[in-house]
Amino acid sequence: MSGSVEAIIQESSMSPEESAALARDLAKIVGEEGVSTKMVDRLATCRDFWPLMGVWFVEGKVPALPDVIVWPKSTAEVAAVLSLANERGIPVTPFGKGSGVLGGAIPLRGGIVLDTKLMKRVKELDRENLMITVEPGLNGALYEEYLNRHGFTGGHFPQSVRCSSVGGWLACRAAGQLSNRYGKIEDIVVALEAVLPDGTVIRGPKKPRTSTGPRIDLLFLGSEGTLGVITEATLSIWPYPEQKAKLSYAFDSLEQGLTVIRKIMQAGGRPAVVRLYDLDETAGHFPETREAEGRCMLVLLIEGDSTLVSAEVKLAQELALEEKGLDCGEAPVDHWDERRYNVSLSSKMIRQGAVLDTIEVTANWDNAFTVYKNMREALLNVEGTALASGHYSHVYPEGACLYMTICGFAPGDKTEYYKRFWSAAMEACLASGASIGHHHGLGLHRGLWMEEEQGENLKILRRIKQALDPKGIMNPGKLSLEVAEKWQK
Ligand SMILES: Cc1cc2nc3c(=O)[nH]c(=O)nc-3n(C[C@H](O)[C@H](O)[C@H](O)COP(=O)(O)OP(=O)(O)OC[C@H]3O[C@@H](n4cnc5c(N)ncnc54)[C@H](O)[C@@H]3O)c2cc1C
Repeated sequence: MSGSVEAIIQESSMSPEESAALARDLAKIVGEEGVSTKMVDRLATCRDFWPLMGVWFVEGKVPALPDVIVWPKSTAEVAAVLSLANERGIPVTPFGKGSGVLGGAIPLRGGIVLDTKLMKRVKELDRENLMITVEPGLNGALYEEYLNRHGFTGGHFPQSVRCSSVGGWLACRAAGQLSNRYGKIEDIVVALEAVLPDGTVIRGPKKPRTSTGPRIDLLFLGSEGTLGVITEATLSIWPYPEQKAKLSYAFDSLEQGLTVIRKIMQAGGRPAVVRLYDLDETAGHFPETREAEGRCMLVLLIEGDSTLVSAEVKLAQELALEEKGLDCGEAPVDHWDERRYNVSLSSKMIRQGAVLDTIEVTANWDNAFTVYKNMREALLNVEGTALASGHYSHVYPEGACLYMTICGFAPGDKTEYYKRFWSAAMEACLASGASIGHHHGLGLHRGLWMEEEQGENLKILRRIKQALDPKGIMNPGKLSLEVAEKWQK
């Protein structure tokens, strides 16, 4: 128990006297207004959007609480905060906007939550080299709006764009809905600045590729706050697209749709949006499209320079017709566009007692369908599961991301049911030869399968962690870099 709030997987925390003393010392770095020990701030930063946490919240429980929240305004302040925490061995959990979906931002061992929300400046817009340098706490939607005002796009639109930060994207290796054209965030990033736990500031070169040894700054991609804090990012940008074309086709089978998108990607086409839905999701999303009844819908949005758009439209049309796709016109693309940020159903379902989640994995083309089949079957075999559906998005010449949605009503304890369906999904995914994650990161929960996913590599990652963070202050218990005592499979 922490105050009147039950923190159910908290491993350790400070006494009120200790946290008050820490807050006083932090105030010397960031000012009085840059620190808080108030319960309202501790509650606001104790969680992310991990759906299981939604279930706990409805039951009046939180996973863990930080002792002190700090809002630094500059790289220098971040460095000073980390130096102080490192000297005293105090845990630090970076916090972007808290939209992660796997518990990555939970301060398992209390200590400091370092919230980047005040670090939101655009530092430089480089029109000639098509790059922008920003601070990590910048909100995704504001980032894109800024670029649009200047005639550019950042090309990165996660569904959470309105409630996520640039730093969070980089820390989790995020993917936007238009990733097929613009790339995942790891393709978009040019260079990073980050602060190590001992306060050292590292910077990567803002140059188009280098061959000067391993890139230390890029080690922070996917590090989820376990190695230090990303304090600045330089990212590629693009001219605002000149033309957009919308296409959609319905296929008798998912395999036919997969063949089409594989051929488009392997021929060099790069439609910004590629989404291929299974039977259940097609029925759920496109009930008004008659041709899609009992079929699998493929939605394509092609954008950019008008000459290139025309060529890509021709390629997609030819390949879709070759696989007997039924042309469904622009309406399904408009329908997707209108609802692309709407996730209200999931919070409604949680309030009605459901347990749900989404699990994205990534597979090569030769087993992209098998993974879907095996994961779906495994999920439906877990008692309580009512729905296990999927779609493919984020496609590459070598394979695709499969995004499964699971919804069920626990036959007993909700947490146990949640663990059971995740285990079923992960085991089926690994047995099918796919990788267990594409863009949500590992956080607390998916980190439990790091050993199966990474094998020997995990030992090396732990050595890197030990070298950079010998006292283990950065986001303890995540990514399986060490054991989370109170959260096991
Ligand atoms: C409705 C919804 C839709 C989503 N859709 C997508 C999607 O389409 N694509 C996608 O990729 N993801 C999606 N996500 C997941 C989530 O939005 C992303 O993981 C996002 O990148 C997290 O950003 P954040 O700022 O909210 O990070 P947080 O949740 O605050 O933090 C995530 C992790 O990064 C670490 N971190 C944050 N900032 C820093 C920093 N500056 N330095 C070091 N570590 C840091 C934290 O410690 C934590 O471990 C979705 C989430 C929701 C709720």
